[in-house]
Amino acid sequence: MMSAATIAGRVRAGELDPVSVTRGALKRLEERDPNIHAYLDADADAALERAEQVAEDAARGDDPGRLAGVPISLKDNIAVKGRALTAGSRILQDYHAPYHSTVVRRLLAEGAVLLGRTNLDEFAMGSSTENSAYAATTNPWDERRVPGGSSGGSAAAVAAGIVPVALGSDTGGSIRQPAALCGVTGFKPTYGSVSRHGLVAFGSSLEQIGPLAAHAEDAALVYDVIAGHDPLDPTTTPAERPSAYKTSASVEGLRVAVPEELLDETVEPRVLERVAAAIDLLGDAGAITKVVPKGRLAHVRLAVPAYYLISACEASSNLARYDGMRFGPRLEQDDLLGTYQRTRGSLFGTEVKRRILLGTFALSAGHHDAWYRKALEVRRLIADEFRALLQEFDLIAGPTSPSGAFPLGEKEDEPWAMYQCDALTAPACLAGLPSISLPCGLAKKGPYKGFPVGLQLMGRAHEDHRVLAAARAFEALRGEPERCALYGNEVAS
Ligand code: GLN
Repeated sequence: MMSAATIAGRVRAGELDPVSVTRGALKRLEERDPNIHAYLDADADAALERAEQVAEDAARGDDPGRLAGVPISLKDNIAVKGRALTAGSRILQDYHAPYHSTVVRRLLAEGAVLLGRTNLDEFAMGSSTENSAYAATTNPWDERRVPGGSSGGSAAAVAAGIVPVALGSDTGGSIRQPAALCGVTGFKPTYGSVSRHGLVAFGSSLEQIGPLAAHAEDAALVYDVIAGHDPLDPTTTPAERPSAYKTSASVEGLRVAVPEELLDETVEPRVLERVAAAIDLLGDAGAITKVVPKGRLAHVRLAVPAYYLISACEASSNLARYDGMRFGPRLEQDDLLGTYQRTRGSLFGTEVKRRILLGTFALSAGHHDAWYRKALEVRRLIADEFRALLQEFDLIAGPTSPSGAFPLGEKEDEPWAMYQCDALTAPACLAGLPSISLPCGLAKKGPYKGFPVGLQLMGRAHEDHRVLAAARAFEALRGEPERCALYGNEVAS
């Protein structure tokens, strides 16, 4: 597929009509989405109207921007004014966003064409996109497998070659893990670099919005556009950010740690095999890679319990606002308490209720110190261990996910097994570090034979440009990736 950078370059040069680009994306969506259910809605008319507007701007001689005419899909927990915003939940059915999220304003200012709302696990809670109240998205590599989650719709839309870029959100792995399972690139920025104004909140101390893309350079381009201080999100930092797109793509001389804790026996051996080959490739290109013996990341094995406690506590507070009064449908009963109970009891899904119960319990008087505070202490230990390692090394490398794309339904009745999907991605969220997943080939044998494997690279806080530059260098080394294998390399128009 033509990259976003190429589309924008050609639209800006007057060589490519954004309307034909959008029509191409809509045609692919129409052909492919009935099998994968990546989209909740295409918003086709709005997309075409917008593409016409970009075309008019370009014809008038105005610069239409760095994403001129690029079709971009958004996870349905990111607000677009006037458009439905469900977060994959019945409790927000028919709710329409009253304002644009900051990322949307930034994308539109650079000429992007918003195309569709992509499916997700309800309130971004899950690792397979099976928790959506509306549909289960499937993996474009094999429709009997999951695409990962919770940004599974965005990952599948890119992997199916419908759009070159989609946005997702990552609280514990929800951009990177589906990117890994679908064979695309997914980037979670440093905590505080991208505004969450207009993102449906789940775990506010953890999450970031970021791009999923077919090409690493597009992840860099979109990151440059969406990152930056925003007075509407006080967690965003005013720091100067070097352009990730312009930073030269190289790994020459970079010190890359490969901690043994990230390669342990819980990771599928055929996944490890691909990741080891990818790390060798980085070494061949001049990176100084070093296996770091067990001990430096001693607490990383506690990342899953710490993450699930902290994120559930934050979710129990963030989701308290959905009571049928201000957002979404209300299931009226005789008294107010009854209305609350009926609305929340019927319209939240099982996984969301599980998290609200867990979080409410862990925050309650008498249990707070034993659970929530303990989890915060573990989080601090994990963050300190990563920070210390990143004083000696520029990057940390390892697998993104312990598994490849697993069959639909495999972990449905086993929440704890599903939670283990986050073992390798939750640490970067707990520590606030930038982290990317890059496709690094297909598993050669075993349960994920023929399915994509993701290489994860983590960097120092606020060195997103360095992580993205290494990603672009890796992509060039790896050669034409096996991504989008189903649909070949057709152009976007
Ligand atoms: N799988 C994790 C969860 O269910 C991560 C979700 C996310 O990053 N939004 O909480």
